[in-house]
Amino acid sequence: MNFANVRMVLVGTTHPGNIGAAARAMKNMGLRRLVLVSPLLFPHAEATARAAGADDVLAAAQVVDSLERALSGCRLVLGISARRRGIAGPELDPRQCAVQVAGHSLQTEVALVFGRESSGLNNDEMDRCHFLVRIPTEPEFGSLNLAVAVAIIAYELRLAALAGIDSGMAAPRRPPATAEEMAYFYEHLQQVLLATGFLNPANPRQLMRRLRRLFNRAQPDQNEVNILRGILASIQEYRSRH
Ligand code: SAH
Repeated sequence: MNFANVRMVLVGTTHPGNIGAAARAMKNMGLRRLVLVSPLLFPHAEATARAAGADDVLAAAQVVDSLERALSGCRLVLGISARRRGIAGPELDPRQCAVQVAGHSLQTEVALVFGRESSGLNNDEMDRCHFLVRIPTEPEFGSLNLAVAVAIIAYELRLAALAGIDSGMAAPRRPPATAEEMAYFYEHLQQVLLATGFLNPANPRQLMRRLRRLFNRAQPDQNEVNILRGILASIQEYRSRH
């Protein structure tokens, strides 16, 4: 486990107190990298008050205006969500999540993405995640306070770090492509599928979401993504010649 490569990403947080409480829990567990995507109110006195001494984590927090920016350079992205989705990546519990983070963080940047207090993460945001992580709460009352969810995940990461979960674990031989490389690939794929008519904008039937799920599950490395993009480019070239 290398916490220096692990970032906690909070998307669209409404209550600044939750940001402070999340920062506190992170620091308690040894995590320091906080990224805030379009927080409603930040910096804010309530955040500082609830951070209770973790103001250094708050001061170092990076504020960005899109999830894409927040995921810059990440090769493993985990979406932390209370809800099961129709089309989502494979589901992990927090302990399995910590094992993934332990292995990948040795070599590459990892992001754990938390949703809004009101509505969690939307489909587009979940589609950027390799895995969905659900804390196994009671189904009929499953939604935790945001900072509590951050604390539970951070605690599992700490347990894994203390247990030396990654010792002897082979780091991925070729790290998966970055979030940016995958975003360019999906854009390219969509362009080609629109051009060939396979993707009908009038009736998209979740095709792109299903394809994202398929490729995210495979976690292709950079070389493999280049091959896929080469195939797409060859289709474009073929079409322009015929
Ligand atoms: N009403 C929202 C709940 C948001 S709670 C919804 O239905 O999605 C705010 C955030 O806390 C969530 O987006 C998620 O990141 C985290 N969270 C809350 N409960 C969770 C649970 N049981 N498992 C995983 N994450 C949870």
